[in-house]
Amino acid sequence: MISTISSTKFPQLLPPTHQIYKSKRFQFYCYASISTAPLSAVSTTNSTCVISNFENQIHEIERLCEQSNTEAAILLTEQLIKDGFPIQLQIFLLLLQCCAGSRSLASVRKTHYLITRSQPKTSTLVFSYLASIYCKLGGLTDARQLLDKKLQKPKPGNKRKETYEKVRELHKEIREIGYVPDTRYVLQDIDEEAKEQSLMYHSERLAIAFGLISTPPGTTLRIMKNLRICGDCHNAVKLMSKVVEREIIMRDNKRFHHFRDGVCSCGDFW
Ligand SMILES: [Zn+2]
Ligand SMILES: [Zn+2]
Repeated sequence: MISTISSTKFPQLLPPTHQIYKSKRFQFYCYASISTAPLSAVSTTNSTCVISNFENQIHEIERLCEQSNTEAAILLTEQLIKDGFPIQLQIFLLLLQCCAGSRSLASVRKTHYLITRSQPKTSTLVFSYLASIYCKLGGLTDARQLLDKKLQKPKPGNKRKETYEKVRELHKEIREIGYVPDTRYVLQDIDEEAKEQSLMYHSERLAIAFGLISTPPGTTLRIMKNLRICGDCHNAVKLMSKVVEREIIMRDNKRFHHFRDGVCSCGDFW
């Protein structure tokens, strides 16, 4: 029975009562054994035996943690993971608490590794607890790496590449519903194909592509432009609002254009 855990900062770390805790694990393991072993191989006696052994090992981990024997508790958890047992969140939280108590950064790292191995999708609770322990024990680089990984910050280069890919994809789609580039809006003396390319990368179209890859579907895009929108962009953006099913509100130096479902609020006069 775990009765020594207490944390005012992380009250949710308190494990549920022993009975619920136990029965949850029991169901969890039963499920695992049925799904991984051939039906004929799962005899009731064997399962009960394995489960009871697993239960004992978990009790042993709890006992080791209570005695602040962090290293042994980690070793035993590692063995259980190697044997294919599902380790529940509460056990990892208990281990982390134990690591924090023994002020061992190495143990926190080891437990962190075991968590990643056992639960590929780290829960927010474990994540915040890990980050706070790393900070408390001076593992600031570890905490930063953890945060970076969690936020999955895209590198600026990638976002730029994605934006350009998105703008090309958008043009393919609007061409299918009738977009024909109006190259009269390109004043440079270049060939037709280059003129079409140049129109495709006008800043407002890149802004729309960037908005599309950066916001959830359906979000209204708001774009500011300090010059007047060109006629070809106006036409392209109307069609874009239709293919992507988004409202696009654009403010140029003259007025607001509210694009929706292939038409603009200005009625093509601006
Ligand atoms: Zn334009
Ligand atoms: Zn308009």
